[in-house]
Amino acid sequence: MKVTKFGGSSMADAGQYRKVRDIVLSDPERTVVVVSAPGKRHSKDHKITDLLYLCNAHTKYGVACDPIFDMIVSRYTAIRDELGLDIDLETEFAVLKKGIDAKKISKEELVSRGEYFSAKLMAAYLGFRFLDAADWVKFNLDGTINQDATYQALKELAFGQKIVTPGFFGAMPDGKIHTFSRGGSDITGALAAAALDADVYENWTDVSGILMADPRIVDNPEPIAEVTYDELRELSYSGAQVLHEGSIFPVREKNIPLNIRNTNAPNDPGTIIMERFDEDHEPDRFITGITGMKDFSIISLSKRGMSNQVGVLHKVLTVLVRHNISVDYVPNGIDNVSVVAPTEALAPNLYTILAEIQNEVEPDSLEVHDQIAVVAAVGRQMAYRPGISGRLFAALGAAGINIRMINQGPDELNIIFGVDNKDYKNAIRVLYNSFVK
Ligand code: ASP
Repeated sequence: MKVTKFGGSSMADAGQYRKVRDIVLSDPERTVVVVSAPGKRHSKDHKITDLLYLCNAHTKYGVACDPIFDMIVSRYTAIRDELGLDIDLETEFAVLKKGIDAKKISKEELVSRGEYFSAKLMAAYLGFRFLDAADWVKFNLDGTINQDATYQALKELAFGQKIVTPGFFGAMPDGKIHTFSRGGSDITGALAAAALDADVYENWTDVSGILMADPRIVDNPEPIAEVTYDELRELSYSGAQVLHEGSIFPVREKNIPLNIRNTNAPNDPGTIIMERFDEDHEPDRFITGITGMKDFSIISLSKRGMSNQVGVLHKVLTVLVRHNISVDYVPNGIDNVSVVAPTEALAPNLYTILAEIQNEVEPDSLEVHDQIAVVAAVGRQMAYRPGISGRLFAALGAAGINIRMINQGPDELNIIFGVDNKDYKNAIRVLYNSFVK
């Protein structure tokens, strides 16, 4: 069976509900559906969840939230009426409004209603059973998820059934509603997939998977067909916007494939994320993705005879620790060492940091290079294959891009290099064009 989760843009209006229904009903294995609250219909629109938070803030400060509440109600009734569904929402909304006015509804309960009503509508539309998340997503007193109780409850409640359940929230041991952090419906979907040992967890959104490169830099980059969690971490660490790591631990633990799909292009295969792939379907694709970030600084120092001295690097790092700077890379030579860190982190105390390094290490030279961009080519298939970095640097050289720093870990999952900020976009394009196209 397949667990399908639909994000806010897939639930934004009646037209999107129709697409979701077509997707779910086109495959009898799609028996468990997790939904977000309706998101934005266009760029100037509001997400229902944001409106609910706003409503809560108004009430807290004693300002009536009626206009906002009415907007929320009308989003749902419009979807219902356009789909011709015969379901009474007004009574439940009236009870909710009374509770808000009497200050009897907690913030968490209020903001969770976005998903709740979304799931009610979708259940009616699909002809599936509505299962309240409060009945199966169980939190511990400290707010962490009680995995055993959650899995057990869903296994019992969903057995042999077709269900729609809301994302984003669950219940505390005393039954009170508790929410995950924003975007938390992804976690609900992952929990459902893990509880039911699904064959796949489909996460439906508005993009056809994770792209190989930033579309603002590369025209129409291809989506990544298959990616491992380790690669994903490398890609997201160096800039790419992908799934929140904390949101997928339940499927990762059970090695259930996570498939990112596009509700607006349901025939696109999307991206499959797994712990490992036993067989690579594209054996000649060495690079899984290309990413990077601008605005790093390199502090570089040299001192004759440094290679024979103990503790020079330690002293440099101690200064940075004192200033709470997290160092990203430490490229070094025989008698010199450099540290690479974001300019934003270094800038406020740069001169103090340099003075302390000067005092404590007494280098022969101490320099700072700004405007450095770091580019990462990530790919599990680069490991133990000679010639990839050669090809990569040859392509950059042929394009006239000067490389300021090189870093590769022994796991060979990535090749990271520094270029001038001005060469950043071009470096990404050159790599994309020479390795992907
Ligand atoms: N609706 C919630 C939010 O916007 C949760 C979700 O959609 O994942 O954060």
